Amino acid sequence: MLASRSVAAIISDALKPLTADVTYSFNGQDADGVWSQSSPDLLIVDQSYLKAHGRRVEEYARNCAGITFTPTIYIGKFSDPEYTSLLHFKSVELFDGDIISGLGEVAASHLRPSVRVKFWGVRGSTPCANSENIHFGGNTSCVEITAPGLDELLILDSGTGIRNLGNYLSKQGNRKLTGRIFITHPHWDHIQGFPFFKPFYCGQNSFSIHMPEQYRGGAQEILSGHLTKTFFPVTLDMLDAELEYVTQGESLVDYGPYSVEYLVANHPTKTAIYKIRIGGLSIVYCPDNELTLKRSPIRFLDTFEEFINGCDLLVHDAQFNLKQYDDREGWGHSAWERVVEIAKRNSVKNLFLAHHDPDSNDDILSERAEQVSRYEGSPFDAVALAREGTEVRLPVLEKV
Ligand SMILES: [Zn+2]
Ligand SMILES: [Zn+2]
Repeated sequence: MLASRSVAAIISDALKPLTADVTYSFNGQDADGVWSQSSPDLLIVDQSYLKAHGRRVEEYARNCAGITFTPTIYIGKFSDPEYTSLLHFKSVELFDGDIISGLGEVAASHLRPSVRVKFWGVRGSTPCANSENIHFGGNTSCVEITAPGLDELLILDSGTGIRNLGNYLSKQGNRKLTGRIFITHPHWDHIQGFPFFKPFYCGQNSFSIHMPEQYRGGAQEILSGHLTKTFFPVTLDMLDAELEYVTQGESLVDYGPYSVEYLVANHPTKTAIYKIRIGGLSIVYCPDNELTLKRSPIRFLDTFEEFINGCDLLVHDAQFNLKQYDDREGWGHSAWERVVEIAKRNSVKNLFLAHHDPDSNDDILSERAEQVSRYEGSPFDAVALAREGTEVRLPVLEKV
């Protein structure tokens, strides 16, 4: 937390009943250090510090730990519109008199066990390591899902973002890693990071790799075709981890802590729109899918709407805006306005737009994020453009 010393003493009393580890910072510099080294579950800030460091608090909360939606509680009256608009992420305002009675309760509700969905790569088509793309990120599709009670890795897609995930895991020490990687389809931007995932080079680790069947075969045939000496020096049999390849069918498979099923997307090759049910929540991951402006292909939109209806989180392709889509109909990607419209009418609770076009730089995407944020609160609990490093937290409804 970031607070003055007098307020910190009051807060310390209010938080006593919780078993949480609390770190106090008394100036912006200290807080920078805390956030850059850890990913706090909850941020509590004092209004005096918000006035002085509001932009920096927001920037660090977003950038350092990739915690855009970290719940934030601020202490004191806070009506400066410049900062209240900055702090549109989950926040609760507590006045001095309410601190002791309210803070413990509010903090406890924010520290509920959550499923976490982390974006390691949000770019579509090709990585774009240009300085003008750094805010939203240049790595291609990769998402990690974690949950309390889930002791194996659950990864969606292996675009170049998976390299950073692998490096992060490798730095966590020498623990044995197991898990499943569900690849939506074998377009380059979804498999290009595959041989760069460091945990594959450790013999004690084991993973199963899932992919829908393609014209030329299943997961193993497709990946071994991609990893031949012509294209890359490492072949599949050079990976040390124990790997199992699964050609995934559409129907629901129960993996114990979670289940997975998929709908085939409207995209140039057989592509999965995965639905993961975990902790009583449903998460739909759909990085490549064209939502046409007409109701075609026949019945696809009906089936799609049924599939996403009422889901807790939808991560969807939003490569274009409507104007760009005009020239790109049939390319297999969607305009963000159409995604919002369809998600709205199907009561999607949280919407994250992803698979950004490599030519959409930070200025373009920031402007789009601004337009998208108007839907926050109604009808969506949260709606935003996915950013590399962002972690979405959804409190579990059932034990995993
Ligand atoms: Zn793609
Ligand atoms: Zn694709």
